[in-house]
Amino acid sequence: MKETATLNPAPTADTCPKASRQFGLPVDNDGFYGGSLFGGAFVPDGLRKNLDELMEAYRAAMADPEFHREFRHLLKTYVGRPSPLYYARRLSERYGARIYLKREDLNHTGAHKINNALGLALLARRMGKTHIIAETGAGQHGVATATVCALMGMRCTVFMGAEDIRRQSANVKRMRMLGAEVVAPDVECDTLMGAVDGALQYWMNHPEAFYLIGSAVGPHPYPAIVARFQSVISEELLTQVPEQSGKDSPDYVIACVGGGSNAAGAFFHYLDNPAVKLVAVEAAGHGLDSGEHAATMTCGAPGVLHGSRTLLIQDEEGNVIEPYSISAGLDYPGVGPLQAFLADSGRTQVLAATDREAVEAGIRLSRMEGIIPAMESSHALAALEKISFRPDDVVVVNLSGRGDKDVDRFVL
Ligand SMILES: *Cc1c(COP(=O)(O)O)cnc(C)c1O
Repeated sequence: MKETATLNPAPTADTCPKASRQFGLPVDNDGFYGGSLFGGAFVPDGLRKNLDELMEAYRAAMADPEFHREFRHLLKTYVGRPSPLYYARRLSERYGARIYLKREDLNHTGAHKINNALGLALLARRMGKTHIIAETGAGQHGVATATVCALMGMRCTVFMGAEDIRRQSANVKRMRMLGAEVVAPDVECDTLMGAVDGALQYWMNHPEAFYLIGSAVGPHPYPAIVARFQSVISEELLTQVPEQSGKDSPDYVIACVGGGSNAAGAFFHYLDNPAVKLVAVEAAGHGLDSGEHAATMTCGAPGVLHGSRTLLIQDEEGNVIEPYSISAGLDYPGVGPLQAFLADSGRTQVLAATDREAVEAGIRLSRMEGIIPAMESSHALAALEKISFRPDDVVVVNLSGRGDKDVDRFVL
């Protein structure tokens, strides 16, 4: 807990004296978090210039009130923010606490991904970029990116593993309808890990393109920028929680973690408030002992992947193992460096939910509250079964997305 007591508050446009203040996060100039080994920018020289330009553009945008005005305006009128905070009465009775759901599922395109896609697309436009590239697993980030590219009249290329193109055909059709080109990269792995490899490779050869990354992962400054754009989630909680619960802050905030962007957004403004327990839920797949899971923080070891040093699931020789989860959005062998640091320092409590527990939790929410959650979000809901609450506890579960894409998988 000690490290977190000194975290910086979110910066305003005119108070950025130190590098670490630029993101409202404990990150140093080289992109390492909280003095830990997690983070950094491990990229070939060819990409360093791109990252420097991105940092420069971000710095300028944060100091420009017009950027903030346009971002806020689009979040409100296009995305539909603020997303509601919903008091779940029947769930509250079941768990003996006051359970609230932060409804990111009600955003345009159905998940939190659009918050970041919009912010990064606005940055790309400031940089004079006309071609956006992105990676996607389940297709949620691909759809969000295709959407903002249509909005801004930009060319969009989405890299997606061949296996994912087959199993997520509805989202592939949406991306194409929005005018994006969907490409299977020519790499070994045919899921999300391969899609990121493909996007990074393409970017090396086409540095004029803008890489619109989909989670709080990758080389610095991406993880910090993504966390900052997603921080609108907890910014809204700062007023919604007191209004609805009468308490200044929640006792718990619970979020699922794939790369860690919706969790970063939900935790952001509570990082330096030790009274708020932050719970990160990762995918235990067929079980932690099965060898088939994506429980990076529970079972991983430090290593470098996709430009950043973080926790990775690896074999004894240090090779990254292909992860497994029923949820494509959590099926990633790493985790963003901020989440790795928060877990390692004890600021977050890390829980893991199996496929079965997530499916049960998703069906339960559907039957008890009339809300069909994404399979990813169902992992966060599964954590409610694992924590013993006090009756007065105010618990916020970040409902990161809606479950239309997953209805065929909610079978016990
Ligand atoms: C992509 C996705 C996730 C996982 O990504 P994070 O970066 O960890 O948030 C979680 N929920 C939904 C609905 C998603 O689409």
